[in-house]
Amino acid sequence: MFDKILIANRGEIACRVIKTAQKMGIKTVAVYSDADKNARHTQMADEAWHIGAAPAKDSYLKGDKILEVAKRSGAKAIHPGYGFLSENTGFATACEKNNIVFIGPPASAIDAMGSKSAAKDIMQKANVPLVPGYHGNNQDPEFLKSQADDMGYPVLIKATAGGGGKGMRIVEASNDFIESLTSCKREAISSFGDDEVLVEKYLTKPRHVEIQVFADSHGNAVHLFERDCSVQRRHQKVIEEAPAPGMTESLRDQMGTVAINAAKAIGYEGAGTVEFLLDEDGSFYFMEMNTRLQVEHPVTEKITGQDLVEWQLRVAHGEALPLQQEQLTIHGHAFEARVYAEDPDQDFLPSTGTLSHLQTPKTNTHVRIDTGIRQGDEVSVHYDPMIAKLIVWDKDRASALARLRGALSDYQIVGLKTNLDFMSQLASHDGFNQADLDTNFINRYQDELF
Ligand code: ADP
Repeated sequence: MFDKILIANRGEIACRVIKTAQKMGIKTVAVYSDADKNARHTQMADEAWHIGAAPAKDSYLKGDKILEVAKRSGAKAIHPGYGFLSENTGFATACEKNNIVFIGPPASAIDAMGSKSAAKDIMQKANVPLVPGYHGNNQDPEFLKSQADDMGYPVLIKATAGGGGKGMRIVEASNDFIESLTSCKREAISSFGDDEVLVEKYLTKPRHVEIQVFADSHGNAVHLFERDCSVQRRHQKVIEEAPAPGMTESLRDQMGTVAINAAKAIGYEGAGTVEFLLDEDGSFYFMEMNTRLQVEHPVTEKITGQDLVEWQLRVAHGEALPLQQEQLTIHGHAFEARVYAEDPDQDFLPSTGTLSHLQTPKTNTHVRIDTGIRQGDEVSVHYDPMIAKLIVWDKDRASALARLRGALSDYQIVGLKTNLDFMSQLASHDGFNQADLDTNFINRYQDELF
């Protein structure tokens, strides 16, 4: 195994990776910006190296600087976490060139999934079902409009370089198409520097169901079942769960097999997630593949009893997958609630400030908290305002949901506005109890939830 790794990230995910490395006896190197001099991840690691100013572009996105630290500190591999450089082909290539192992897929696989339209081309060839739509090169507005007219409304315009729920427009009628296209392209160019879009059928009541896949460098690939991430605000996940309520064995097998085929089609290695939309009639469609560890990976860990970061480290080191498909089973049910510093009275805008008082629920086999923030720490404007991930597990969905309600009510945060009350409302809502889930859940019940 590696004797030392560098974690090119901050916050909860940096702490999460360090925890497993420590368990495996691997030394850890943290990198930090001016804002994170005393951060939890900086203190948890065996060594911490300063890499620049607070804005991410001057620190956590500085690939050259991070590689230099890896070489000087003697780290043999880099874990990128999620966000920042985790899906940056240039960085993965630079690691390969410098003989530092990038703990993630080959640069070519990241590249293949980097554009939503190119990804769809590859998946179509691998017989992975796609949402009906147009994802070609012709960007002529009238041509795209005629495609949309043929598909029938509503349609969704998506920036092919988009992510994080940005660069999407729902169009309800032909007359609105050109205006929505123009505003989508404007947002795409300013957020992603690329205004290419695709147009697809907008499904009105889909669920977001994603499959965790893992592949090694010996040609083995397995899936670790599904997660349901339908509870979203503005296309951003709020509460995730595993397994997906109502999932049948046969659908799980089908989706798992398709996800493994998707990974194989791009020569995948390591942890990846294949995201699908699941329609009411049981049809499912490929949306995109995320070529990294996902924020919501803990729910999969809780129901499978596996440590996915350990799997990542083993696979990156050239070992075969720890388990085969038949050896993987589902135990119980897990939820993850993303605790964010955001202001419910201001349309959930990020809230900044010092976390002056913090009381967390007691952690045990039923309750886990992944966090990079302690009492007294500041949530700044520079990074994602996530405070913690609250993960609960129990023998079935109803008991796990009761744990979630209990843990949310035990959480006390003073000094920052948070989404805790909102998530408590969600966890107590009848519709949620009955797993009446689809991606419009929050919109549908907004009057009761806010
Ligand atoms: P991003 O990369 O920004 O996360 P995705 O393509 O993963 O974008 O889509 C994010 C969310 O948008 C999905 O989880 C789903 O709620 C919604 N969505 C995406 N495509 C469609 C579609 N064709 N029909 C309905 N909802 C969609």
